Amino acid sequence: MTNPPHHILPVYSPPEEVFVRGEGVWLTTDTGERYLDFIAGIAVNALGHAHPKLVGALTEQAGKLWHLSNMFRVAGQERLSDKYCVSSFAEVVFFTNSGTEAIEGLLKIARKYHSAGGQPERIDIIGFKGAFHGRSYGGINAAGNPNYVDGFGPPLPGFKHAEFNDLESVKALINPDTFAAILVEPVQGEGGVRAGTEEFIRGLRELCDAHGALLLFDEVQCGAGRTGKLWAHEWYGVTPDAMAVAKGVGGGFPLGAFMATREAARGMIVGTHGSTYGGNPLAMAVGEAAFDELSNPHFLERVRAMANHLGQSLEGLKDRHPELVLDVRGKGLLRGLKLSTAPKPIQAAARARKLLVGVAGDNVLRLAPPLIVDESHIAQAIDTLDAALNAIHAEAAA
Ligand SMILES: *Cc1c(COP(=O)(O)O)cnc(C)c1O
Repeated sequence: MTNPPHHILPVYSPPEEVFVRGEGVWLTTDTGERYLDFIAGIAVNALGHAHPKLVGALTEQAGKLWHLSNMFRVAGQERLSDKYCVSSFAEVVFFTNSGTEAIEGLLKIARKYHSAGGQPERIDIIGFKGAFHGRSYGGINAAGNPNYVDGFGPPLPGFKHAEFNDLESVKALINPDTFAAILVEPVQGEGGVRAGTEEFIRGLRELCDAHGALLLFDEVQCGAGRTGKLWAHEWYGVTPDAMAVAKGVGGGFPLGAFMATREAARGMIVGTHGSTYGGNPLAMAVGEAAFDELSNPHFLERVRAMANHLGQSLEGLKDRHPELVLDVRGKGLLRGLKLSTAPKPIQAAARARKLLVGVAGDNVLRLAPPLIVDESHIAQAIDTLDAALNAIHAEAAA
């Protein structure tokens, strides 16, 4: 095998196109070709590309102050954490540079909570098959996906995995003496775009309450307005003890956070955690501008309207392609088409027709457009997917 003409660690296998510019829902290549972006950097570019308010916030801050260190007060952190807490169950926030780091924070909060309460033996974190929590050792062990943990040494102690949407499988894993927390994505992204049922998410809350354990939500992908509510768990009528966010909250700038009630975070005192870049002034400027847009009730109402439209359109696609499309999954503008075949050829057929979509586990084609999409973009995406599915169908018949 010959080596590729560059020096990037080959852990990804991207297509040939090189995108050099973005505007709204559109991406343009170095040869000037325009693509409709229905994956948005995997649910990151929530406000589309080059949103004027984000560009303005970043460039204004870039001329003032880039970095301080958390050894000093960062004004932007105090403002943005206020906004996160006013808009949620949370009372304290720690800013990170990524979703993975936010997950690490949740895991540390959970174990420290019990050790601070005199029960350091309570270390078990119950996660779910099909979950994704990032690529650190904590993240891969919390999710337990064999493709991501194999070859990286022995599994870390204290991580267990139940079936998503199956409360009995969770109960079967609980040892009251060592049970620390449950970690769940209210809507699984990577694992196949599966929404938790109301009964399941509420049942997890009850199990945690009954055992004095913490309920941890990973809203890295499904939060930040993606489902049509600011935070996905608002659909379920329960709140977690702590939550991780990232992706959409930065709109493309590396930003994440973990947040918690003061009680859940009782062990996180001076010296127990830190970050050099987390919450740096550039990230805070973009994060605040993004939050002001994403949390606007009119904006969220529009996301819900577009989500309904997309959902109905995808159901139509399923009706037209019953052999290929088995199910429409997900919530809001995080949607999956469960296919009867591997999703990558259909993703490639869509890309050949200038539409960018993602894939997820369990043979799912993943759609996560910028939250600013309108009906015309949805119509174009559906037409293109229709053509791509026809092409795959014709190929299979040939
Ligand atoms: C993307 C993702 C992560 C990891 O975030 P990074 O920013 O890639 O570190 C964690 N959890 C979920 C649900 C995600 O979708």
